[in-house]
This record gives sequence, C-alpha cells and structure tokens, in this order.
Amino acid sequence: MQLNSLYRNNDLEKINHSTFDIIIIGGGITGAGILLDATSRGLKAILFEAHDFAQGTSSRSTKLIHGGLRYLKQFEFKIVRETGLERAVIHNNAIHLVHPEKMLLPIVKNGTLGKTSASLALWVYDFLAKVQKNEKRRMLNKAETLLIEPLLIGENLLGGGLYYEYRTDDARLTIEVIKTAVEKGATAFNYTEVSGFLYDKSEINGIEIIDKINNKKFNINAKTIINAAGPWVDNVRKLDKPINGKRLHLTKGVHIVVNYSALPLQQSTYFDTEDGRMIFAIPRLDKTYIGTTDTNYIGDLLNPVCTDSDIDYLLKNLHSKFKNCNIKKQDVLSTWAGLRPLIHEDGKNPSELSRKDEIFISESGLISIAGGKLTGYRKMAEKVIDKSLKLRNIKATPSQTKYLKLSGNTFENRNEFLRFITLKCGECKQLHWSESQIVKLAHKYGKNIDLIIDIAFTQNIRNEPLRSIILAEYEYCKNYEGVQNIDDYVIRRSGIKYFEPEIENEVREILIGK
Ligand code: FAD
Repeated sequence: MQLNSLYRNNDLEKINHSTFDIIIIGGGITGAGILLDATSRGLKAILFEAHDFAQGTSSRSTKLIHGGLRYLKQFEFKIVRETGLERAVIHNNAIHLVHPEKMLLPIVKNGTLGKTSASLALWVYDFLAKVQKNEKRRMLNKAETLLIEPLLIGENLLGGGLYYEYRTDDARLTIEVIKTAVEKGATAFNYTEVSGFLYDKSEINGIEIIDKINNKKFNINAKTIINAAGPWVDNVRKLDKPINGKRLHLTKGVHIVVNYSALPLQQSTYFDTEDGRMIFAIPRLDKTYIGTTDTNYIGDLLNPVCTDSDIDYLLKNLHSKFKNCNIKKQDVLSTWAGLRPLIHEDGKNPSELSRKDEIFISESGLISIAGGKLTGYRKMAEKVIDKSLKLRNIKATPSQTKYLKLSGNTFENRNEFLRFITLKCGECKQLHWSESQIVKLAHKYGKNIDLIIDIAFTQNIRNEPLRSIILAEYEYCKNYEGVQNIDDYVIRRSGIKYFEPEIENEVREILIGK
C-alpha cells in the first residue's frame, strides 16, 4: 500500500479484520521510527495516527538533532552519549534533511558554565559522541567570540565555545521515516484514531479505530500493540486499564520566528537565560527562530498555544543578550508550541525532568513508550521492538536501521547532494524556478524532487513559477505523503506557515482555486 490520499479509503477497507505482527499507535517520530524498525526486520507492521502525521510534538520541536549539552549539567551521560552518537547516524541516513550546524555557546560571568567547565563539558560532549576531528569543539576568547558573533553584548562576556550540532525539519524527518517504511512494505494511515482495544481473554490482541475522515469504524488484530502516542500516551493507556505506577508529566515549549534582518545572527547561538535555563537562536534562510520555554502544562493536547507571556520571556532574554536588538511582539511572524511527553518525577521542576525514554507494559500486554527525544528515535524504536519480540517470543532479525537511507536520500555524502542541487537548477530553467526555490525543495524532498519536477513539466503554467511549484509539490504530497488537506501541506510538509508566512495566504488561494 502507498501513502496516496486517492486510495486511502479503499486501502482502509482492505485492512479491516486483518492481522498484523505489530500495530503502532501514533504517527509522530517515535511511532514512525518503530514502524521502520519493525518493517526493516521483516515484520508486518501497521501504524495509525489520529490526526496528521507529526501533528503532535514532532512538528513543534527546536528541530535539532543534538546530544543535549545541558543534560551534562544533570549528569545524564547515558542520554548525551546515546543521542550524541545518533547525530552522525541520522545525518547519514537523511543527508538532504539533517545538516551540520555550528553552534556558539557564549560564556558569561555567573553563567551556567564558566570558561573551564564549558571547555570540559564540550570536550566530554565531543568525547561521548565520538565526534570527528574536523567537528571538535573550539574554545574562543572574548575577542574571537565577538568576531564570530558581533551582535553579542560584550559586557560580562568571557569567551565562547564553538561546537557542532545538526539542524533538521522534524515533521519532514517523521514523514521521510514513514515513507521509507511504506516503501519497504509497511502500512500507515493518518486521521485514524485508536478508540479501543480488543482482547482474547485478558490479553490485548487488537484495536478498534475510527476513520475520522469518513466516520467509520474498523477492527484490526496483531500479536503486539505499541502505544507511541506522545503526550496522549496516558490517554491511550487508560483505554486499556486505569493507570497505576509511572505517568506522564507534560511541559510546554514555544518558539518564535522573526525576519533574519530583525536579528541578523552570523552564527546559531545557545545562550543562558536570566533564570538559569538556555535558549537557542537559529538563523534559517531569511528568518531566525528562537526557543524554547519549559513550563508545566495542563490543557488541550492538540492545540497548545504560544501566549503573550511566552513571547515576552523570549524577547526579554534576547534583548539582554544581543546588541541593538529591538524586536517587539509585532515583529514576531509566526510561533509554535509543543508538549514534551516526559515521565513524572516527584518534586522536580520542568527543566529538571529527565529526557530519557521509558517503556511500560500493562497486565494485558499493551506496550507503551514515552519520554525521549527526536534525536533518539532510532534507538528508542530498536529498544521497544527488541522488548516486544522477546515478550511475544517472535523471531526476527536484529534492527536494520543504522545504515538504512531514508526516502529521498540517495547520496553518499553532502558534496554529492550539493552537486545534485546544481544539476536540478540547470534542469528547471525551463520552468523558471529560482535557484533558492530549488534549494528549498531539495532540502525537503531530496532525490524525490525529481517526481515534483516531472509533475511540473506536465502542467502548462511555466510563466507562473510560484503557482507551478506549489501545485506540483502539493500533488506530490497527496500522492506520496498522505496529505489530506491544505493544512497538512502548508504546516507540516512544506513548513510554509512557520518559515514563509508572507506567502501563506497566496499559497492557500492557489490551492483553493486550483
Ligand atoms: P508526538 O509527535 O506527539 O506523536 C504522538 C502522536 O500520537 C500524535 O501525532 C498524536 O496525534 C497521535 N495519537 C494520540 N492519540 C492517538 C490515538 N488514540 N490513536 C492514534 N494516534 C494517536 N528533541 C530533539 O531531539 N531535538 C530538539 O531540538 C527538540 N526540541 C524540542 C522542543 C520542544 C519545545 C519540545 C516540546 C520537544 C522537543 N524535543 C526535541 C523532543 C521531541 O520533539 C519529542 O521527544 C518527540 O517529538 C516526541 O515524539 P512522539 O512521536 O513521541 O510524540
């Protein structure tokens, strides 16, 4: 089966009452990773997502593949090591989507880290992640730090550390993982909510789902059922049994986007806040995004919002760190807010809660996984599938995902990817697409941009480049990425809502009037 929205209803009818090895609940990065891991081992796996793929936390993160430098402060060496090592793996798996990003850590008087502790922390960070020689940390004095980032306020600045992280697009990473699994024989549906469980005596052996587009119910059986519903993990657990023991603790984090000219950073920066936390400011094309916050959350799980006080907090910290930074609330072009599905620990405040993942198994055999990070999705998947196989005594090969290239990545290295972009710029001259438009598309779809170009060549609108791109990209997303409506495309597949809000209305009009 494919992720083609045209065949979706038919495909759903076909799987009614069928049996799989594994059912996965939740189409965020955790569920996506589990689907791919299971499929790569030869298991028959299916995933159900209640909303759009990545509509939960997995489209609302800081979009970094990182080891989490600040977790060193909490002595979480295991997390830093595991996620640190994963950075290079995920980069190789998705060369078009995961890019090295130099990060500046300014060192200030009375800051989180002093000169010696910052140098040591960054050394440990590189050591744990086995960073290559050319990506090892470099410590800077004050003058060197200001040369690298002249916008930093010099007062109280002692120096800086320059180290490597990786930048990605979280929602696109999720969809590429799901697409790869589907290309390898998995099945995945968005807008299908798991509403109950089926049992054989007291053992869970299936689910009931509601197709939210057609309001129809289906039953599907499986040997193993994995709940990867992120912030909804406890809600899904409650469909099985009342919860006892560990439970989730949700914290909210927001990001704001401004024009690059409002904060023209030369360098992505990770800086101290006045209340002892840390914030990222990351340039991306002609915008800069800033985040995040970390506050306890109770409320609507699907639509957490960035409030005025969240914006005030981020702006206050920007103003105290960067020269001539005059950004006001009205300069904020877009925002997003996400929920961290963390594991509750008595007496800890949001920033102190561990980011490690945990697996819970209910008496009836429902396996739930929560916590963790975008960066750790592949290892989390491997772990939970290993556990499920053992529990059910199912034989399968070990995880195959470490060297498995994701859909769109046919490249051996970054240089080959850059050469590919140059080639596409030549090919698209007849379509009148600009170089920057092609670069953006290639970073989203990798080699699959060829399919978008093919669609564009069949359209007869070569004198309207924006219209031609949007229509071709949308068509591709409907045929290969399960897009059901304009929001799926504008928010999660293309990121236009957040990073190109100036064209959002025009894009919507093109798609409504097409
Ligand atoms: P989700 O993405 O929320 O997916 C769960 C899915 O389950 C949802 O799509 C939901 O619709 C679906 N679902 C719920 N109930 C049902 C049901 N009954 N039936 C079917 N489907 C259902 N990590 C990093 O590595 N790097 C970062 O830079 C980073 N930054 C972050 C910044 C913020 C502000 C936040 C909040 C988190 C950040 N993280 C980061 C952590 C990372 O984003 C999360 O760990 C990860 O996205 C969680 O993914 P998930 O799949 O578990 O949850």
